[in-house]
Amino acid sequence: MYDEKGQRYLDCINNVAHVGHSHPDVVRAGAQQMELLNTNSRFLHDNLVLYAQRLQATLPDKLSVCYFVNSGSEANDLALRLAWQYTGHKDVITLNNAYHGHVSSLIDISPYKFHQLSDAEQNQFVHVAPSPDVYRGKYRADHPDPATAYADDVKDIINKAHEKGGKIAAFIAESLQSCGGQVIPPSGYFQKVAEHVRQAGGVFIADEVQVGFGRVGTHFWAFQLQGEDFVPDIVTMGKPIGNGHPMSCVVTTREVAEAFMSSGMEYFNTFGGNPVSCAIGLAVLDVIEKEDLQGNALRVGSYLTELLEKQREKHPLVGDIRGCGLFVGVELVKDRVKLTPATAEAQEIIYNLKEQHILLSADGPHRNVLKFKPPLCFTKEDADLVVEKIDRILTGTFHVPVSLCSVPLCRNKVDLAGLSLAHSLLKRLEVYRDTMQGPLQEPSFTCGLCLKPVYSLLLKFIKG
Ligand code: PMP
Repeated sequence: MYDEKGQRYLDCINNVAHVGHSHPDVVRAGAQQMELLNTNSRFLHDNLVLYAQRLQATLPDKLSVCYFVNSGSEANDLALRLAWQYTGHKDVITLNNAYHGHVSSLIDISPYKFHQLSDAEQNQFVHVAPSPDVYRGKYRADHPDPATAYADDVKDIINKAHEKGGKIAAFIAESLQSCGGQVIPPSGYFQKVAEHVRQAGGVFIADEVQVGFGRVGTHFWAFQLQGEDFVPDIVTMGKPIGNGHPMSCVVTTREVAEAFMSSGMEYFNTFGGNPVSCAIGLAVLDVIEKEDLQGNALRVGSYLTELLEKQREKHPLVGDIRGCGLFVGVELVKDRVKLTPATAEAQEIIYNLKEQHILLSADGPHRNVLKFKPPLCFTKEDADLVVEKIDRILTGTFHVPVSLCSVPLCRNKVDLAGLSLAHSLLKRLEVYRDTMQGPLQEPSFTCGLCLKPVYSLLLKFIKG
């Protein structure tokens, strides 16, 4: 990625630019179709049918009806309508820390957003199940069967909803939770949840908005990680589908679609599935195939995970590495037993990397999980570069002569120990570290990830 001055950035977070920023094949396909025709989807166009056929070929046979929309939020909102219409029920079960979109119906089922609300303000038909996080969650890796334990919690929620007169329309979850902290659910969890939910008359909605289209490497869809025997009733897609062009899709079974149609309420979407969007979508699928990007996600993702594992062995702050393909999370903790989130440290790593033109983000309920979800053309060299930088930041022990650091921190500014000062200090330490060769002169001090000790040491030097 390049900024307006032509400065190069390594993008480790952009799962929208799925096949690479401004991929020429995708740009060309969009431009050519725009030159020819773009119109309201009332006018039938071959691209829509061609795209639906291509997409359907990547999915289990049962998922055979596509609805085209323009954003992940639209897709999830439509998925809820389908579920409500098909089941005749209203209640929805969502996972803790989940995010499913910005429209009203989805804020209601996005604890990532609504956790600030009081119980009274929360929607009564929404139920929150624990996130199936085996690192920090309720049932962890040392549990004999976390998949069943987490699924049993969903069953309890269903029973409680029934006691209050509620009826379950849907369980919705990302196939791998992203905003929730790069959570990989234990194998078999979705099958067990689906069994409980379907028994209650509800449907299973898999949100693939962040994780679909080959990102997980071994499979095209992340829900497939759970095994061949698991097929959701509704799958929603977004972000990577158009490589930045606003396009999304909901795919469901014939039964659900027929129930939706039988309501007599016509479904119409002006822009959804327009010829340009579908041309772009087709080009994205072509590039994934032609450049073997799913294979690349598997190869580079494994390599990245191995490199990060070595960081875990080296640095106590790195508590957990988890991921599939090019969807990887690095959870930072101050204490590996108590799992105290290293939130400030995660932020400092992000800022520090950005200053070195590497884009990474931190998320999860404690904002302490570094998120890797780069375009699928990410290379092993890219992985080497970012991990080497992280290693240097984590090592964070620079010996710096006091003359270099203390002078510009003038006495009357020291009490303004704010972020900008901290950053300028870090930057100068970086420059110094990069230009110095060999052992440094005394006096020296340690610059760890937390800046406070650095400040107090500096103050001592200055005052002394
Ligand atoms: N689902 C998930 C899992 C998402 O991460 C997002 C967006 N971050 C959405 C749905 C909503 O997509 P959009 O922003 O395209 O409406």
